[in-house]
Amino acid sequence: MGRKEKIAVWLVWLIVWPAGLFGVFQFFPPDLIDNQMDILAFVILASIVALFPLQIGDNPVFFTHGITFAVFLYFGLAVEIIVSQVALIFLLLKLRVSRSNVHRFPLNFVMFLVISISSALIYHMLGGQHGREAVSSVSNAVPIVAYAFFQLFFNQLTIKFIAKFLYKRHVKMFDIGLLWDLTSGLLVFPVGFLLYMMYAEFGVSAVFYVGIPFILISGMLMLYHKSSIVNQYLKRTSRIGHELTGNLGVKDVLDLFVDRLSQLLPVDYIYIFDVESDREMNLIRYFDRSGVTYFPSIKLHIGESISGHTWEEGNSFKYNKKSDWDHLRNRYTPKEAESALSVPIERKGEIVGVITIYSNQKYAFLQFQFMILNILGSYLAVAIDNARHYEKTKLESERCALTGLYNFRYFQDQLHEAFFSDKDQSIALILLDIDHFKSINDTYGHESGNEILCQFAERLEDVVGNAGVVARYGGEEFAILLPRYKDYEAYQVAEDIRRSIAEQPFSTYQYILSDDEPKEVSITASIGVATYPVDCEEPLELIRHADRAMYVGAKQKGRNRVACYEELKTAAESL
Ligand code: GH3
Ligand code: MG
Ligand code: MG
Repeated sequence: MGRKEKIAVWLVWLIVWPAGLFGVFQFFPPDLIDNQMDILAFVILASIVALFPLQIGDNPVFFTHGITFAVFLYFGLAVEIIVSQVALIFLLLKLRVSRSNVHRFPLNFVMFLVISISSALIYHMLGGQHGREAVSSVSNAVPIVAYAFFQLFFNQLTIKFIAKFLYKRHVKMFDIGLLWDLTSGLLVFPVGFLLYMMYAEFGVSAVFYVGIPFILISGMLMLYHKSSIVNQYLKRTSRIGHELTGNLGVKDVLDLFVDRLSQLLPVDYIYIFDVESDREMNLIRYFDRSGVTYFPSIKLHIGESISGHTWEEGNSFKYNKKSDWDHLRNRYTPKEAESALSVPIERKGEIVGVITIYSNQKYAFLQFQFMILNILGSYLAVAIDNARHYEKTKLESERCALTGLYNFRYFQDQLHEAFFSDKDQSIALILLDIDHFKSINDTYGHESGNEILCQFAERLEDVVGNAGVVARYGGEEFAILLPRYKDYEAYQVAEDIRRSIAEQPFSTYQYILSDDEPKEVSITASIGVATYPVDCEEPLELIRHADRAMYVGAKQKGRNRVACYEELKTAAESL
């Protein structure tokens, strides 16, 4: 609700509430003097019942209308208003309406006043009476039933009106709130009627006979409802757990976790820390509901701030308001925050991180939500472990163990992807084969050969950079995939590579001779280039043609040279 609407609510209250009360007391003057103690008993009963609300969707459902029903039948509209408005104060206090929502007080006062007056007018129009005469003949059933019905009807109507026009929410007439109102009405109104009958017969002792069981029923319904909510939360939590175990990398796990957590709990900020050393941890994820995307770089020492304290103690903490954690505040704790939950992330009995969430409301988190965050913390620990393992295995399955370059399988996948992702783009392929490599093995030993292969791989990556994929194609053969490269551009890269290899020697220790001095070894490579769509139509053909260019155009022509398939073809055709 915007500022304008809030001001309007206060203005409407300021006018309607006193005017409404004045009118009611003028036209339906209550007999307060003779009944003060009885009315007080009803006020107390209704206020206690108001302390057991059920939060259904966006609205609380509570059962004071059973009590106010009896009060209305006996004492009339004015007393009913007194009882229901006092009970309302207790309800709103129990709901811990925050400072930014304080307009809910005037809003509800007006709403309840309007409901009371409208249903009473209908009751009176239908000939309803008060006192003992309220139920004196069968015909009294009509106004009584109509009153109960219109109480529910006006209640739903005003709730939906406010949701639609003040909160601008999408509103459905038949929803879970209506269902609860109707089903609880079947219990609440008969009990209210019974209360009226008992009161008319036995006086104020009825408040105890009917009131106490009614309080117990309200309490039990509240507990039932709470447990069904916890149940729903647990289901959602377990669904999040399943989602986190999918084949995800660490970044995806954290993104998913923060996204789901921000939907599950009423958080304004989420901080996830990763323990780096035994004294320090780093912020690895940050969420700010107000949409700030700036990601603070935070390092915390053990014991520092809420998260560092959680780490130091090895326990979870729940803070209901700022003064609970003010002594732990540092320059990174959000200024507006009030409530906070902080739980350690443990793996194999060791704390590997901390999750801390904040809300700008006091008492924002319930005890069971604290438990849910603890469960989510252990899911996150397992998920991050799995994700790291998954990333490591993926990396190993894509890379050559000796040189760290991509392997043949990965290269093939990339080649196919380049072909099938965009048919209109050109693709270039460079194949290299080291010249006389066998003699290097023979002269310096296989170990030195390996060492040179590693340096060779580094040199290729230096020249290619991020322009393409450098892969170890076979023993001492390498492939470089250059998406979006034309033939002349690829030729230039190939030439740069050839020179960077030929112009600077490689160095190796002569393990075979156990010589401590490194030895400089000059090598060269023969290189073939082919491109799509000039030289081929499909991936295998591209490889075959680059290979042919390398052997026929470079190796056979004396090695240490770059050959393009295009030239080869032209030369062959001119023969
Ligand atoms: P050229 O290509 O110029 O015709 O001569 P070459 O000696 O390089 O011949 P070829 O490409 O047929 O031989 C490849 C040699 O590379 C054979 C093998 O000893 C060596 N080789 C292949 N893989 C490895 C490896 O992983 N480590 C080492 N040290 N040597 C390897
Ligand atoms: Mg070879
Ligand atoms: Mg070779």
